[in-house]
Amino acid sequence: MAPRPLVAGNWKMNGSRQSTRALVAALKEAATQPSRAEVLICPPTPLLAEAADALEGVGIELGAQDCHAAAGGAHTGDVAAEMLADLGCSYVIVGHSERRTDHGESDTVVRAKAEAAHRADLSAIVCLGETEVERDADETLAVVGRQLAGSLPEGATPENTVVAYEPVWAIGTGRTPNEGEISVVHRELRDRLVERFGDAGRDFRLLYGGSVKPDNAVAIMKLRNVDGGLIGGASLKAEDFWPIVEAC
Ligand code: PEP
Repeated sequence: MAPRPLVAGNWKMNGSRQSTRALVAALKEAATQPSRAEVLICPPTPLLAEAADALEGVGIELGAQDCHAAAGGAHTGDVAAEMLADLGCSYVIVGHSERRTDHGESDTVVRAKAEAAHRADLSAIVCLGETEVERDADETLAVVGRQLAGSLPEGATPENTVVAYEPVWAIGTGRTPNEGEISVVHRELRDRLVERFGDAGRDFRLLYGGSVKPDNAVAIMKLRNVDGGLIGGASLKAEDFWPIVEAC
């Protein structure tokens, strides 16, 4: 049986306490029926407490956008996975391409962050994806295979780890790979997961992310080996986000 889909909203560095309240209220209103998909929002760190409070009894989970590998100590400006768990998070995104680019995060760093998430009983959403240059050079499958091998810890299980395929050139651009191209990459990821984790590899959720909108969500979410989406821009408005949840 296919795993339960997950639709995760990555708010990135957007929002205020007031807009967080308003967006959660709008999501609550949109969620008139229980969804088949598990739904998650990932606000920026300073808004997590506000979101946790607003989400009380709403049936939407809370996640963060990053964590440090260490459980505490002299890491100015960083946040430990344990602190996120304490705030009510159940997920944390690690290795988003914006962090890999802006903060030079390597697969080794991403793997350590995923391990930290597991140590704190959080599920890690491990992001990977090729750049446009890599795609044009026909290196997509090699790149995502290398990132998957390097970023997933040994202790990864379908319960504590979600993999998000996000082509870097599709994030925030309005461009997406076609359905065949998405299928090829997700199939490759699935095969590699099964190779490494045996039968459990079939149960890891594989999200697609990169310019998912209400008008392309049904076509993408119905693809084999696509078990939900990681949604950026469209997660900032309930009227865009909820139709994507319903597409699952
Ligand atoms: C993202 O940031 O993870 C993302 C997929 O962004 P967008 O949906 O805006 O392309």
